[in-house]
This record gives sequence, C-alpha cells and structure tokens, in this order.
Amino acid sequence: SKSIGKNTIQFYQDFMRKDMLRRLSIESHLRNALKKNIFTLHYQPQICLKTGTIRAFEALIRWTDEELGMISPSEFIPVAESAGLIVPLGEWILKEACKEAKRLNSGQNKILMSVNISAVQLKQLDFVDLVKNTLKETGLKPELLELEVTETTLISSFETTISMFEELRKIGVKISLDDFGTGYSSLSYLKKLPIDTLKIDKSFIKDLDKECIEKEITESIVALVHKLNIEVIAEGVENGKQLAYLMQCNCDNIQGFLISKPVPAISAKELLNKNYMA
Ligand code: C2E
Ligand code: CA
Ligand code: CA
Ligand code: CA
Repeated sequence: SKSIGKNTIQFYQDFMRKDMLRRLSIESHLRNALKKNIFTLHYQPQICLKTGTIRAFEALIRWTDEELGMISPSEFIPVAESAGLIVPLGEWILKEACKEAKRLNSGQNKILMSVNISAVQLKQLDFVDLVKNTLKETGLKPELLELEVTETTLISSFETTISMFEELRKIGVKISLDDFGTGYSSLSYLKKLPIDTLKIDKSFIKDLDKECIEKEITESIVALVHKLNIEVIAEGVENGKQLAYLMQCNCDNIQGFLISKPVPAISAKELLNKNYMA
C-alpha cells in the first residue's frame, strides 16, 4: 500500500542521512587526528610454513578518536580516500612502518615489512619517489619492504601502475597482491602482473575447514601461482584445520588469529625468534 511505500522511502532517507552524517563526522575528526598525529600501527606476523618462522609483519593502522572512540580502518580508510586525506596519512604510515622495520631488523633478522597502499596513493605520480625517499630517510633496505596493493589499483590506469611496480621491483621492493579472489581476479591476467606475492582473501580461507569448493579453488590458485614464480600467503587463518589443509595445498605462508592478532610494536619484537610450527 501507499503507506508502506512511504515508510520505506522515509526509512531509506533516514538511513542515507545517518550514513552521510557519520562519514562527515569521521572526515572532520580525521583531519584533526592527522594534525595531532594520534594514529598508531599494529603489526601482524606472516609465518613461512617451510621454516616455521616469521617472514614479514603486516602494518595495520589503528585509530581511537577522543569523541568517536575506536574506529575500524575498514570504515575510515575509505573516508580518507574520498576526502584526499589518504595521501598524507599514507605517507605517515609508510615512514612509521619503515622505521619499525629497521628496529625489528637491528640484529641479523631479515624480516619484511608489508605496508598497505591505497589505489589513491598509487595515482600520485611521485609515488615511486616517495618510496625511494622514505627508504633513504629511514635507512631501510628496499629488499625488506613489501607493498600490499589490491586489484582496484589496476582498474583505472593499468599501464602506469604496472610500470610503477616494475620501477619499484628494480630497486628491490616487493609487490604483494592483496585480497585475491574478491575482485576481478582473472587468473589469465596474473601472468601480466609484476608481483612477488599473492594473498588469498580470508573469505576463501573461512570455509576451508568444511567440505566445499573453496578447497579446490585454493589448491588450483596455489598451483598456478607457483608456476608463475609467485609466493602465496593465506590470510585470515583461524584454526588448525585450515592450517592443515593449506599445508596440503603447498601454501607458502599463513597469517591470521591462529598465529597472532595484530599487536603493537613492543609486542611484535617479542614474537620474533620463535618457531611457530614446532
Ligand atoms: P586487509 O589489508 O585485508 O587486512 C586484513 C584484515 O583482517 C585486518 O583488519 C586484520 O586485522 C584482519 N585479520 C587478520 N587476521 C584475521 C583472522 O584470522 N580472522 C579475521 N576475521 N580477520 C583477521 P583491519 O586491521 O581491521 O583492517 C581492515 C582493512 O583496512 C585492511 O584489510 C585494509 O584494507 C585497511 N587497512 C588497514 N590498515 C591500513 C593501512 O595502514 N593503510 C591502508 N591503505 N589500508 C589499511
Ligand atoms: Ca593487507
Ligand atoms: Ca587482505
Ligand atoms: Ca581487505
């Protein structure tokens, strides 16, 4: 009836309004947070299944706003992207992660630092220079830096992005394709991508402990990716069943709550020099 239609529209408008107000509020609080520099990074280990040791830490941003409380990066990163704030924020993240990588590798360690890079950052023509300068300033070896990018970075300017990846790889920086399986994920274009690592999205890993198609998909992805000389990481590994299956699949590395949740820098140091498969 008419009244139901009207209520539905009213509900929808209220919802859109709340959503918009929330985004606007996050945006203005983000601007303040950037000025005050109150972000932190947490680090989550990626374990090499062959050696049982840490191959890398992934840097993940954390933000607790005085008024809004703790806000998830999956909520505020998209806001930062659309407001143009991801460029200065991303610069801070990269530098902070490189500094921390330098500290974590003070001994004989050779642990990579994996940093998430937004598509908006890659659109900046001086992105490669930014990476080179950050490495120089922090003294981190390029071989110890890995950049996590998603397929969305490739949509608008495939050629430009590819040549950026090539330039970065030439100096030793690694490129990792994040969230594989959620976007276009055409297996045929993988061979065109100059990448070192591929991360299978956690939505695939979630169902690995059941009897289902995800198993076959994962097995095929690993086999194909190995033929292309690309290393595989399974993300979102939460239990032993998933781990056992990933080992059967010949997966190279795992990341997830089974090993550790993302932790502050001090705790990351304590995770070093352990054998996780022993
Ligand atoms: P992502 O890059 O795919 O990161 C993986 C997310 O899964 C992280 O959420 C991590 O805490 C979570 N996770 C790790 N292990 C498990 C597990 O075993 N089970 C489950 N269910 N989740 C697990 P987080 O930290 O909330 O980040 C969410 C997203 O926000 C990231 O997804 C990434 O897209 C973005 N993000 C986070 N930090 C940064 C950053 O520094 N820069 C940029 N550009 N994006 C970031
Ligand atoms: Ca990531
Ligand atoms: Ca991911
Ligand atoms: Ca993601």
